[in-house]
Amino acid sequence: MRVKKNDTVLVLSGKDKGKQGVVIEFSEKKGKIKIGGIAQVTKHLKARKQGQNSAIIKTESFIDISKVMLMCAACKQPTRIGSGQVDSAKVRVCKRCNETVK
Ligand SMILES: [Zn+2]
Repeated sequence: MRVKKNDTVLVLSGKDKGKQGVVIEFSEKKGKIKIGGIAQVTKHLKARKQGQNSAIIKTESFIDISKVMLMCAACKQPTRIGSGQVDSAKVRVCKRCNETVK
């Protein structure tokens, strides 16, 4: 697993290129993630019941996991993730500073 929920990631391509955000949703099936404030789309909600108002809301859309890079909390740099073992548990390791990534 390269990226998971609550990770801070850097967007590498698309209209939000260069922005950072926190992963708010992760779809293992799709290999896609949603990042807070990134890849926002505007949705028009139509009133379906009486007394309900039509609304325009902003919501995040899924982007491909390959379009982001994890921000390492230790060295504050975008990094690639390797895997390692600590006390026989699998951990993610920053390839830049070799710190364990939580
Ligand atoms: Zn690092």
